[in-house]
Amino acid sequence: MNLRPDRRLVLLAGLGASACATAPAATPALSGFARPRLAPIRMEMQRITRITVCTRPFRPAGPRLDVENVAGKRVVHNYGHGGSGWSLAWGSAEIVAQKALDGGAKDIAVIGCGALGLTAALTLQRAGAKVTIYAKERTPDTRSARASGTWSPDSRIADADKVDAQFPALWERMTRKTYGEWQHYLGMPGEPVAWTDRYNLYDTPRIVAAIPRPERARDPGEIHFAEYSARVRDLSPPFRELEAHEHPFPVPRVRQGTVMMFNVAELAHMLTRDFLTEGGRIVQTEFHTPADLARLSEPVVVNCTGYGARALWKDETLTPVRGQIAWLAPQPEARYGVRYRGISVISRPDGIVVQQTGTSDMWGVGVADETPDRAETEDAVRTMATVFARART
Ligand SMILES: Cc1cc2nc3c(=O)[nH]c(=O)nc-3n(C[C@H](O)[C@H](O)[C@H](O)COP(=O)(O)OP(=O)(O)OC[C@H]3O[C@@H](n4cnc5c(N)ncnc54)[C@H](O)[C@@H]3O)c2cc1C
Repeated sequence: MNLRPDRRLVLLAGLGASACATAPAATPALSGFARPRLAPIRMEMQRITRITVCTRPFRPAGPRLDVENVAGKRVVHNYGHGGSGWSLAWGSAEIVAQKALDGGAKDIAVIGCGALGLTAALTLQRAGAKVTIYAKERTPDTRSARASGTWSPDSRIADADKVDAQFPALWERMTRKTYGEWQHYLGMPGEPVAWTDRYNLYDTPRIVAAIPRPERARDPGEIHFAEYSARVRDLSPPFRELEAHEHPFPVPRVRQGTVMMFNVAELAHMLTRDFLTEGGRIVQTEFHTPADLARLSEPVVVNCTGYGARALWKDETLTPVRGQIAWLAPQPEARYGVRYRGISVISRPDGIVVQQTGTSDMWGVGVADETPDRAETEDAVRTMATVFARART
């Protein structure tokens, strides 16, 4: 076996050096185990198969989960999950299902067939309710189907200055419940949920001494996006610094971790199939005003309309946050992700997902235009192509 890792496109995975900002990571001992090879991701313009755009439904106060009576219905809201819809879906469903069932009715209408609608419908069904989903679009046409597919429970979930005091604990409850539920989808055919390695690349070396960083002053109008990941640090394996010989990338600093990933194409189909197999019904329809709910026979309605709630419910606090994905032909031999200069690349079974996320979460805020921007995609692919072109082989 060749044990000169610095000259090969290989890495040592999980050999025990913990992330530490104050001391150099120990060089992992070489063992008799073969090192997994890291196949390069082919960042080539001609491999772009399509570009999709989606709008994250961001609410400064966090998702809307309250109850109101409208058009003779008890309406339970379940929308506004920002960039975290797939990561909070089951926890949010648990909360709204309880509220929906509180009145005693067993016939429930769910509006919306995205991540939030499907999980709310399944949760209600499994609690004994008879559920019909009413939606304008279903998979693969929902916005949820255009997500990048990473476990990201506090991505643009709220403005830290606009949430109430209970929200962080509520967020943690939703996060832990959802995390637990997705573990049951591991190892299934089509890999609806999987764990994959991620590499975060930096142009500057690691800072060895711990220097307290003053909080950056925000620009006027800049949102103070809530960050709660420290509350659930125990859930995922931590990221760690890699030594130069442990990775092939042409940058002075790399952090590597193992992250939960959603293969959204398979996952959304699986949830839809489960809902239908377990006796659910999906009706394609559009509501133009809340008064339209009067035509439904169900006395209780769970409103999972995502960004659609802005028009339907006239919720002007719902802020669009545009996100665009370029899809490259799949590479089953390269199942990992890389993040560099505000660009994220994730290899999923249904394609290589390339997303420009910018250097701050303000990227795309206030932009509702879902027209694909080819130049944005080409910029991202070109930048990442330079990384793989200069990677050690
Ligand atoms: C680029 C991008 C990447 C993302 N990546 C991730 C990620 O990696 N991880 C993560 O957790 N989240 C991610 N998100 C966020 C996630 O996609 C959203 O939070 C999630 O899709 C919201 O789901 P939803 O069910 O609320 O809304 P939607 O998926 O928009 O579903 C809304 C449903 O309501 C229906 N509807 C709307 N209005 C009406 C109406 N008037 N009448 C009838 N039906 C109506 C729609 O047809 C649809 O069925 C990402 C978002 C974007 C844009």
